Amino acid sequence: MNPFNFTQPKDVEGVLSQLANGARPIAGGTNLLDLMKEGVMTPSQVVDINAIATAGLDRIEDAGDGGLRLGALARNADTAYHPLVRERYPLLSSAILAGASPQLRNMATNGGNLLQRTRCVYFYDAGVPCNKREPGTGCPAKHGVNRQHAILGASEHCIATHPSDMCVALRALDAVVHVRAKDGEREIPFGEFHRLPGERPELDSTLRPGELITHIALPDAARFVDHSAYIKVRERLSYAFALVSVAAALDLDGDTIRAARIALGGVAHKPWRIEEAERELEGRQAGEAAFTAAAERILQGARGWGQNDFKLPLAKNAIVQALMSATRGTAYARGEKE
Ligand code: SF4
Repeated sequence: MNPFNFTQPKDVEGVLSQLANGARPIAGGTNLLDLMKEGVMTPSQVVDINAIATAGLDRIEDAGDGGLRLGALARNADTAYHPLVRERYPLLSSAILAGASPQLRNMATNGGNLLQRTRCVYFYDAGVPCNKREPGTGCPAKHGVNRQHAILGASEHCIATHPSDMCVALRALDAVVHVRAKDGEREIPFGEFHRLPGERPELDSTLRPGELITHIALPDAARFVDHSAYIKVRERLSYAFALVSVAAALDLDGDTIRAARIALGGVAHKPWRIEEAERELEGRQAGEAAFTAAAERILQGARGWGQNDFKLPLAKNAIVQALMSATRGTAYARGEKE
């Protein structure tokens, strides 16, 4: 590991000053430490932001309008098991609990979950080229080991996927990321927070240098509570990243779809959502025919890279299955455990 300067400010202003000077924030450390030990990230300054949790950044609070405010420093496990999250956003709770392991969820923070980096094997091997790690060096995954890689939204420069489960549910739930810097605050709609690789695969998100995520706002989603499902297809039942995941939520009037939310993980550089496909479901009967049409619309333009060709039929089937499961009812509403 390279030598670095380490600071632990006691207040938000101190953290913002460090970030403005180019320091890399660390909270749970469940991704950054691995990257530093492998020599993939070599920050010269690291700022520990855990002490500012006492400024309210670790709270999960009722927003007063049916929504919730998730502190950036709240731990993933505390978020998933929080009574208000379980009651109002069972989709989010399921997605978080599908990720990582209990030990990692106890340490990982909500802000860190958004900023975790791809698990592309070439990105983690500092001895090989990778456009995301070293722009302009190439993308060996395109003709190499690409079983985990993107089928949507990739560019010739990078075909990596975003590894989060939590973010897939946050995308489906129309979350908004709140950030703060020395010169002010701003809000970023979740669909604009993560990027597609395009010409700049080294940039994962639209977070600007010097900005700190303070919290994630969730709007009222009461109409989706009784009909949601998170399906994650992976190599083994726990502690594995998604090959394909689907967060699905329906607002139903009997069998008729009033509204739908569908987001995919494991298929692109960001959680993938096509809102037009959701609108086309409105007014249709919930069932395999409508869900298959939605899946085909969502996957328009998808392509494989060899080892991940299987993701095309897998994603289509997973979308249909997630929507069928959501139609039957959210797990707790069916009195089942998932
Ligand atoms: Fe690097 Fe992206 Fe290519 Fe992986 S897919 S080797 S992260 S450029």
